[in-house]
Amino acid sequence: MDDKCLALDLGGTKLLIGIADREGQIIFSRRYPSMLAKGWSQREIADHMLACLDDFVPAAPMDDVTCVGAGVVGRVDDENGRWLEIEPGRCETVELAGLLSRKTQLPAFIDNDVRCALRAERALGYGKGLDDFIYINIGTGIGAALVTGGQAVRGHSFNAGEVGHVAVDIFGNVRCPCGRNGCVEAIASGAGLDRRARTLKRYFPKTRLCLPEGSRVSAKEIFDLAEAGDTLCTRLMQDAVKAIAALIMNLAWVSDPEMVVMGGGVVSDRRMLDGILSSLNPGSMRFAAGGVRLSALDPELTGLVGAAMRGFGMP
Ligand SMILES: [Zn+2]
Repeated sequence: MDDKCLALDLGGTKLLIGIADREGQIIFSRRYPSMLAKGWSQREIADHMLACLDDFVPAAPMDDVTCVGAGVVGRVDDENGRWLEIEPGRCETVELAGLLSRKTQLPAFIDNDVRCALRAERALGYGKGLDDFIYINIGTGIGAALVTGGQAVRGHSFNAGEVGHVAVDIFGNVRCPCGRNGCVEAIASGAGLDRRARTLKRYFPKTRLCLPEGSRVSAKEIFDLAEAGDTLCTRLMQDAVKAIAALIMNLAWVSDPEMVVMGGGVVSDRRMLDGILSSLNPGSMRFAAGGVRLSALDPELTGLVGAAMRGFGMP
């Protein structure tokens, strides 16, 4: 079949809209601001997504488009097409699948962005054919999707996989906005690295790291400066490496995966990946015969491809 899907991927920094085929090829796409960082409600962001479709659809090759799929951050009741929550405190349920369907006159389906990326990984990536594996996304935030016995785990409240708040340093003093100490997201996510850099900078007066007003410092800049010997950036990077390795091992003990696949901007840096791999305790990972790998899919497009897979009805 050569039918196509109109896919939307709403992430922390961008809204990507595209047309994809069943093989995951993106035929046409456009990038829009995501508005998530502006503190907008789900209703406002849903309206923004519909407005972006007003720009996208007239320009896009819509022939053969038979369905809509969207991945969004936060908690999603994928069966009923309801976007329940962006984060604790931003939880005004929106019937997003219904809104998208009315807008496009096509059947529309939604899910959490990390579970959408998991679909891309299962359809086209290392997860193909695996019944037990873990996908971990480390970008602005940290989320995971677990497949056990061939089924993606959703949880009682569609909240399974929010592993950013797995504590990996409970005796340390890194405070997470969730209220706990030592959450991996507070140490190793893009947002966490930025927050921590701002907290620690005064203890490292010689650092060359510049922290921009009103925007986040990039993980790449921190890793570049660490490589050049900057002590603040070295500390931030080493802690992030250890935190991610601890998360991987904790999850491996929980679900006994055959493989762990990582995706997202923070770990797509080779220096991070090498550090993580060498920090894993072989005993903890002894049954993960497929190892810990960086996704081979294009990190810019994984979420969009996964959203298309959701639109095409992939469970
Ligand atoms: Zn937390």
